[in-house]
Amino acid sequence: MTDTTEHRATCACGQLRVTAVGDPDVVTACNCLECQRRTGSPFGVGAYYRKDRVVSIEGRSNSFERTAAEGRKLCNNFCPDCGTSVYWSLDMRPDHYGIAVGCFSDPGFIRPTRVVWADEARVGETADSDAVVLRPHV
Ligand SMILES: [Zn+2]
Ligand SMILES: [Zn+2]
Repeated sequence: MTDTTEHRATCACGQLRVTAVGDPDVVTACNCLECQRRTGSPFGVGAYYRKDRVVSIEGRSNSFERTAAEGRKLCNNFCPDCGTSVYWSLDMRPDHYGIAVGCFSDPGFIRPTRVVWADEARVGETADSDAVVLRPHV
């Protein structure tokens, strides 16, 4: 039976809201330097939902596109008012949106299942010792 539980990710000021249904396909903790810059933290944690599981994207956003590994594009969408990076689309997973796990503000949200770019991790800082560590990335 399909899980129809809705999970809503919001920016800090609340005007940008992304709602997804059920559990994400993958939750990745990424230690790459770009995710460190995106979040201002030692790693970024993203929930990857198939686009057809993202039922609404409400509010205004600005976007920032960057070139990721092997020339692939990644487009971050962030709130123009508070600056929170809420979700992104990427060439690597064209059927998915990545949604910043912190924006769900849900302590029970599914934990990371993968750690990527571990070679760029800040010393002693990894997201989750139980997760599968892939080098350098998926
Ligand atoms: Zn905001
Ligand atoms: Zn990254």
